[in-house]
Amino acid sequence: MQMQQAFFLLLISAALGCTAPSEQNDTPMQEPLPYAMAIHGGAGTITRANMTEEMEANYLAALDQALTIGENILKEGGSSLDAIQQTIMFLEDTPYFNAGKGAVFTNSGTNELDASIMDGKTQNAGAVGGVTNIKNPIIAARAVMEKSEHVMLTGKGAEQFAEEQGIEIVDPEYYFTQQRWDALQRVKARETPASELSESDRHGTVGAVALDMQGNLAAGTSTGGMTNKRYNRVGDAPIIGAGTYADNATCAVSCTGHGEYFIRYAVAHDIAARMEHKGIGLAQAADEVVMQKLVEKGGSGGIIAVDRFGNVALTFNSEGMYRGYVTPDAREVKIYRD
Ligand code: ASP
Repeated sequence: MQMQQAFFLLLISAALGCTAPSEQNDTPMQEPLPYAMAIHGGAGTITRANMTEEMEANYLAALDQALTIGENILKEGGSSLDAIQQTIMFLEDTPYFNAGKGAVFTNSGTNELDASIMDGKTQNAGAVGGVTNIKNPIIAARAVMEKSEHVMLTGKGAEQFAEEQGIEIVDPEYYFTQQRWDALQRVKARETPASELSESDRHGTVGAVALDMQGNLAAGTSTGGMTNKRYNRVGDAPIIGAGTYADNATCAVSCTGHGEYFIRYAVAHDIAARMEHKGIGLAQAADEVVMQKLVEKGGSGGIIAVDRFGNVALTFNSEGMYRGYVTPDAREVKIYRD
């Protein structure tokens, strides 16, 4: 009798498709939110101890202003691509963040900027790497996506392309901030190993992800890379699948942290791939990659992501991450873990 019952149950569960993998499907069954956006301004050793009240207020105000720029575009029915581009441009122009003005310095005292953007609807993407005179690298990344037949342009060629597209070119002096310059001097004098620089000295990459009212996802990331980088080092930010990824079927992701690890473990794509192949939700996929895999491998940093329902993940394994998100029902900007 017992064996007959067990056999019966097995038959029913096979007919209903109740196999182990589909039981893991935790994608929230919900009405999609009309829009959602998340932003970051870098992750790392950000603690109250190494922050003044004034700096904290400046960061929070800048994050809030950035969110409003994107939110206004999304609320009016604008595209996720426009929302993230305009938001990232603002963060690039804000000197506290390591992107555009305020970028960190290379070992030779220059600034080399990386940026990328991806459209979740078409999965078109564009990126620039190691550029030294483009005011807003995210504009150049978008132009590569929309006006060239390539995905990534680097160095002089990328600068030439930007100039031909009428994108604003600046004197490299434009990127200078005393704080980033002093950070380079401290690292070079070996007073502080680069790995121990405080967050505000070291990172501050910016990124944005959004879902618009047409159901389209987009992601973008922009950075000066890491202080004291050499030999035209390029990080994860301009590498599609590593620092940036978007697919309407799953999610849009922008990363920040120790770029070499994000490249090696294809972090942004891994989150989307886990959702697609394992049928799990965004929060679980982000946790598996950032809080488990990256932690095991020693890669510090974090991600922001949004899925097609408007669920948002702001996941980091470092002490803090400048971050924020906005939906029609909620809005938050934060720095520390607690
Ligand atoms: N991921 C960036 C890079 O490695 C740096 C950062 O996000 O802080 O270039």
